[in-house]
Amino acid sequence: MNLFALCRQVGFSKSFLLPNTAYEDWTRHRNDGAFHANADYIRDDPQKAYPWANACLICVWPYTPFDDPAVVPAYYLASNRAYHAMNDLIRALEKEGIRAERAETPYRTQLLAAGIGARMDNQLWYYPPYGTFTVLWGVMLSLPEPVEYTPPHANEPVCDHCGRCDAACFGALHQGTFDWHACIRSYLENQPMPERFMPELISFSGCQRCQYVCPKNPKKRIPIPQQVRDALDPVEIVKGNHKAALELLGRNRKKQLLRQAIVLCGNQNRTEAIPYLLELSEKSGDSYKTELNYAISLLQKSGNMIE
Ligand code: SF4
Ligand code: SF4
Repeated sequence: MNLFALCRQVGFSKSFLLPNTAYEDWTRHRNDGAFHANADYIRDDPQKAYPWANACLICVWPYTPFDDPAVVPAYYLASNRAYHAMNDLIRALEKEGIRAERAETPYRTQLLAAGIGARMDNQLWYYPPYGTFTVLWGVMLSLPEPVEYTPPHANEPVCDHCGRCDAACFGALHQGTFDWHACIRSYLENQPMPERFMPELISFSGCQRCQYVCPKNPKKRIPIPQQVRDALDPVEIVKGNHKAALELLGRNRKKQLLRQAIVLCGNQNRTEAIPYLLELSEKSGDSYKTELNYAISLLQKSGNMIE
């Protein structure tokens, strides 16, 4: 069985086979509060968490960003597709008699420690020719010895500290340092978004400003398929039509989808959403209170100005 061919077969463009090693520096950083709560699920010591595994296969799914940043970053659609591909990969490996399990490990840190790819000022992982436009998924494996791990490569520094990402960001980036507290993406998963970020939300799950402006990234953009635009119309979502959106973004994202749809109705001045937002206010108790108050008051103010 050719492991890398199997990865390509399920849709990944590239994959790297690394040893199952500890990453104490990363753990120390997390304990010091360097990462958002989204990093909490990552296993502290992979050798203890996966004692049976002698390798971690990290797979790369590149994507081309959309030309319109105001709907959804292509990253999230790619991430959902790549997640299913990773599950296909695990099933295929198990059929071959290889124990495999999704790796809950810090992929970027592991790759950089192995001398693969480069870290940019916006803290993202860069790998040519895709730049930072990639999704990563990893699988822990128990492989017959000896294992041929991927040798270090392409670890040349790429970022020239030009400051463009810094200038495009709301305040999370400062001369090569990153503060997750000020990055809108830290609040787009499970937790409610702090109110101060609501005016900045321009798309579902979104902010890729620092990546769009980076001169080292590929310039190619693709149009957003109409079916994606339709599925992610925020008014339709507040009306309760969210099935197609969840198919695109992942079925476990219902709460965050609705939260963001409410805020986007306000930010996009979708006054036709007012009756549905009021109805939601009555039905949903405190669940979306901050988002609903924000959007309704914005839309009502804008309605008054028009009159
Ligand atoms: S925009 Fe400039 S500073 Fe920021 S990551 Fe790209 S090259 Fe580095
Ligand atoms: S994702 Fe947006 S908020 Fe976060 S660092 Fe990049 S530009 Fe700043």
